[in-house]
Amino acid sequence: MAAKSNGKLFIISAPSGAGKTTLCREALKRFNDITYSISYTTRKPRNGEQDGIDYHFITKEKFKRKIESNKWVEWAEVYGNFYGTSAEFLDTCLASGKHILLDIDIQGTMQIKKRYPDSVTIFIMPPSLETLRSRLESRGTDTRQVIERRLEIAKKEMGEKDLYRHVIINDQLSSAVSELIEIIKSYH
Ligand code: 5GP
Repeated sequence: MAAKSNGKLFIISAPSGAGKTTLCREALKRFNDITYSISYTTRKPRNGEQDGIDYHFITKEKFKRKIESNKWVEWAEVYGNFYGTSAEFLDTCLASGKHILLDIDIQGTMQIKKRYPDSVTIFIMPPSLETLRSRLESRGTDTRQVIERRLEIAKKEMGEKDLYRHVIINDQLSSAVSELIEIIKSYH
């Protein structure tokens, strides 16, 4: 049975390097009634990432125990690491009427949509694969091998954009931000 909710769920997905983190940050600055869902992950923190702010960083063992005890509303394995959203967090926020922004991948989005069919799904597209490559390279956080793998996955993900209710092409950051804000506003 679908869970009843008062708050609205906004789900943003994008291939790695499409500018999703910046867009999410801008949306959160603009709407102070939207809470960001901090995911749990087994991947190691990148430079500058803080536990409890960017992610809750946990061990694989702990993550798997939470799978067994049904603690995730959704979870997925992405690039060899586990990522998940706390069911308790989501249910508590929604029940108290809070709107939530989730930054999760396509697998996770499909799981959430089953339980919360009214979720507003937004896919961020990079202008091209070449742009994505140069963004990933200039970010300097991943090895060549990781970048190639991310590009391969990005290609596949971009082919699945039609599973989302809204698609934004992040060519110019400022116009992508305005587009995202307009979409969110239209549901407020
Ligand atoms: P990154 O490691 O670059 O921060 O994230 C890798 C991918 O994992 C991104 O596509 C991001 O949206 C996705 N991701 C982050 N948190 C979650 C989560 O809780 N669940 C799912 N399914 N994907 C997530």
